[in-house]
Amino acid sequence: MQVPPFTLEKQLSEIGQDLDEAVSRVVKSGIYIGGSEVLKFEQSFADAVGVSFAIGCNSGTDALVLALRALNIGPMDEVITPSFSFFATAEAISNVGATPVFVDVDPTNYLLDIELIEAAITPLTKAILPVHLFGCPVNMTKIVSLAKKNGIKVIEDCAQAVGTQWDGKPVGSIGDIGCFSFFPTKNLGAAGDAGAVTTNDPELAERIRELAIHGMPRRYFHTELGYNSRLDAVQAAILNVKLPILDKWITQRKEIAKRYINLLKGLSDLALPSFCEKNNDIHSWNQFVIRVKDCSKEEKVKGIKKIENICKDLPESDARDTLKDRLLHDGVNTIIYYPIPIHLQPAYKKLGYKVNNLPNTESLCSQVLSLPIFPELTLEEQEYVVNSIKKSLKD
Ligand SMILES: *Cc1c(COP(=O)(O)O)cnc(C)c1O
Repeated sequence: MQVPPFTLEKQLSEIGQDLDEAVSRVVKSGIYIGGSEVLKFEQSFADAVGVSFAIGCNSGTDALVLALRALNIGPMDEVITPSFSFFATAEAISNVGATPVFVDVDPTNYLLDIELIEAAITPLTKAILPVHLFGCPVNMTKIVSLAKKNGIKVIEDCAQAVGTQWDGKPVGSIGDIGCFSFFPTKNLGAAGDAGAVTTNDPELAERIRELAIHGMPRRYFHTELGYNSRLDAVQAAILNVKLPILDKWITQRKEIAKRYINLLKGLSDLALPSFCEKNNDIHSWNQFVIRVKDCSKEEKVKGIKKIENICKDLPESDARDTLKDRLLHDGVNTIIYYPIPIHLQPAYKKLGYKVNNLPNTESLCSQVLSLPIFPELTLEEQEYVVNSIKKSLKD
C-alpha cells in the first residue's frame, strides 16, 4: 500500500466537477481581477472567522507582510516570533525591514512559550507574532494581555490554522490582525497561491486594502509604496466552493488525530502531540506531528529528551530519520516540518544566533515527523501507517 502525506485525489473525485464549473464561470465572465467571487469570498470568510473584515491577497506570506506594514512595523523595530515555524513567518518580518526576535517553544505543544515572551520584550518591540502551528491554538488570552500591558500589537499567523479556535474564538479574530494562507496543502486550499488578512479594525482594513493595491486609495493616486497582492477571481471561486465544506473537513481531521493518538499511545519511543484542546478550543490538525526520541544521544531534561548539537550539521542518522526511511520503504510517506530551525538558517546568519540558543526548537527539529493526515484518509490506511511504525520501531 502507498500512503501519501497529503493528496487531493479523493477530494477531487467528490468536488472536482464543482471546481471545474466555478473556474469556467469565472473564465466566461471575463472578470478576472476583483468582482463578485472575490467579494463573496471576503464576506463569507470574514463571517467564518468572526471578524468585520477579511481582505483577500496573493498568499499567506503577503498576508503577513501586509499586516506588518499596516501596523507601521519596519526598520529598527523588533517582532517576537517562534523559530519553529515555516520560514515565511520570519521572512515577512525581515522583508519589511524589521528584526525577528526568536523565542523558544514549549516542547509539549510546539508553540511559542508564553513564559519566555516577556523577557524578550525591549523598547524596540512593536509586535508579537505567534504561529498557531500545525493547527494548534496558541494561548491568546495570555498573549493579548502581555501585549496590552506592554503597548504592543499582536499579529496571528493562522496559515496552518483555519478552523482553529482558542477559548471559543476562531484564531485570526483575537489579535489585532490575522494572516491566513490558502496554499493547496492548508486546511482550506486554493488551486494555487492565495491568502487573506482579517481584522475588526476598519482603519487597518482600509490600509491593508490599499497596500495590497500599490498603496492606491483611488485610481492612479498613490499615498505610499505598496504591493500588487490581490486574491484572483479564479482562486476566490475555488475557495467559495470549498469554504462551506471546511467544518466537515476539520471534523474528519480531528477524528483522524484522535485515532492516531489511540493507536499510537504507549509506544515509549514516541511522544505524541498533546491534544491542545481544552473545553473551548479547537485544534484543526493541519499536521499530526510526532516526536521520535533518539535513545543513543538522549539526555533527560524535564522529561523531554534533548539531543545535543543536532542543528550544527544534520546528523548522518538518528532515530527519526531511521523511522522515516523504514516507513518510506513500506510506502508510508512522511514529512519533516521543519528540519532546520529558522534562527540557524544560512539566511539568518547575520542575526548571530548559535546552536543551543533555543534548545527546545532545536530538539524538535531533530525529532519531529509528520504522519499522513488529510480528511479522506481511511481507517485502513491509518492502521497500515500505525502498524508500519510499530514494526519499524521494533526492528
Ligand atoms: C504556509 C505558511 C505561510 C505562508 O503561506 P503561503 O501562502 O505559502 O505564502 C506562513 N506561515 C506559516 C506558518 C505557514 O505554514
